[in-house]
Amino acid sequence: MKKKYKAMVLSCMDPRFQTKVSNYLKRIKLTGKYSAFTIAGAAVGVTAPKFKKWHSTFWENLNTSIKIHKINKLIVINHMDCGAAKIVNGVKEFNLQNEMKIHENSFEKIKSYLRRKHPRLKLELNLMLLNGKIEKF
Ligand SMILES: [Zn+2]
Repeated sequence: MKKKYKAMVLSCMDPRFQTKVSNYLKRIKLTGKYSAFTIAGAAVGVTAPKFKKWHSTFWENLNTSIKIHKINKLIVINHMDCGAAKIVNGVKEFNLQNEMKIHENSFEKIKSYLRRKHPRLKLELNLMLLNGKIEKF
């Protein structure tokens, strides 16, 4: 039997991206088949020290989704021009290089955590541009 639920999607709460994220998930045929965890910054929110209080909430929800929904994949969708990334960036100039560093850092942290805690869970790391296009990492 085919598994009904396949993935958990970690995305940002930014209103500009709700429709774009949902359209992307439709394109990859996941409509109705994913559990959603939406929080400021997506991977940035659940890994950056600035948002420490949020981290365990995400990992506990991921654990729950693995148990209850039998997901086999985590799909991360960060996005450009993210307010949470700007908070993490602090007083430095929010240029492309600093912005990318924040996203890459969050992806690395998620990857190493999953390797330790859920080595069989697949991981998809995406960065969404303002026009809805996806860059894979
Ligand atoms: Zn955001």
